[in-house]
Amino acid sequence: MTKHRVTCIPGDGIGPELMAAAKTAVAATKVDIEWVDVEAGAGVMDKYGTPLPDPVIDSIRETKVALKGPVTTPVGSGFRSVNVGLRKALDLYANLRPAVSIPGVRSRYENVDLVVVRENTEDLYAGIEHMAGEDAAESIKLITRKGSERIARFAFDYARREGRRKITAVHKANIMKLSDGLFLEICRQVAADNPGIEFEDRIVDNMCMQLVQKPELYDVLLCPNLYGDIVSDLCAGLVGGLGVAPGANIGTEMAVFEAVHGSAPKYAGLDKADPTALILSVVLMLRHLGEWEAAHALFEGVRRVIGAGRRVTYDLGGTSGTKDMSEAIAEEVAHLVG
Ligand code: NAD
Repeated sequence: MTKHRVTCIPGDGIGPELMAAAKTAVAATKVDIEWVDVEAGAGVMDKYGTPLPDPVIDSIRETKVALKGPVTTPVGSGFRSVNVGLRKALDLYANLRPAVSIPGVRSRYENVDLVVVRENTEDLYAGIEHMAGEDAAESIKLITRKGSERIARFAFDYARREGRRKITAVHKANIMKLSDGLFLEICRQVAADNPGIEFEDRIVDNMCMQLVQKPELYDVLLCPNLYGDIVSDLCAGLVGGLGVAPGANIGTEMAVFEAVHGSAPKYAGLDKADPTALILSVVLMLRHLGEWEAAHALFEGVRRVIGAGRRVTYDLGGTSGTKDMSEAIAEEVAHLVG
């Protein structure tokens, strides 16, 4: 059995209790994980003078894989968010956001199975902006050949690895003919190198309408940064919202897995928060580590517990706490792996 070393960042607010829940659930898969615990977030500002101390980055550089709880962004402290800091320090250029229907989670659709692949470093998020005189401000939308090519190749490699059938590039190249035009042109070139996977493109506004009307027609959505940000939340909304939305930030060598939601300070320490999103992030992590059977068992455990609806948290219509729900998932997983 392969042993995996994984950096663990519990985070702030509900982070530590969700991390404990995730560890309980994944232990039942019997995958051999050695957790390397490190501290980050608002809670360590006094100790280290920064929410993202060097040992966190050093640990991820060494283990190559991290599971991260949500961290509170200190407001007005002058420090950039831990998430942005990690993304930049480790060049995590691909953001992965699956949205899958789970029976028992209240939502408008039953058969959604989408993955948003979002470019994580360029576009209007490159942070290039300035005042143009006193009464106007300018932000630069930066799209490069290199950035577009590596995210397009990532999407096709991911689709092949995960057995996905189709990639839809999302853009506004009819208006932004140069920037989005370059992104689309490169997506088409990369698609030509990958004849086994169907390729199409959609203008972003039409994409949003179609996702609301017939989400079952789509599979992997390949987006530049800004559209990916918006479309991935739309997709989370299609399957029940942030409580069940997992995510990953992936680079050439390293990957950080985390739930999409924040640290929900009002629920911290109350054993109330829903562990589903972080546990589904562990499912993504296990797939990334090549532990396909364990990933399947963990996902199935989550599906069964939510489907039964008895030992689930308040947001899923139940009265269980975080710990009890994770134990219920662990029991199902233990049955599945035998
Ligand atoms: P939030 O996601 O923490 O909370 C939004 C709402 O969802 C709240 O009502 C909250 O109680 C609820 N919620 C969130 N997660 C839940 C869960 N697992 N179970 C049940 N309910 C849940 O967003 P916010 O209030 O805007 O942010 C709080 C803090 O988290 C801020 O400091 C923000 O910067 C930070 N944040 C961190 C991350 C991250 O680390 N990835 C992401 C988003 C926000």
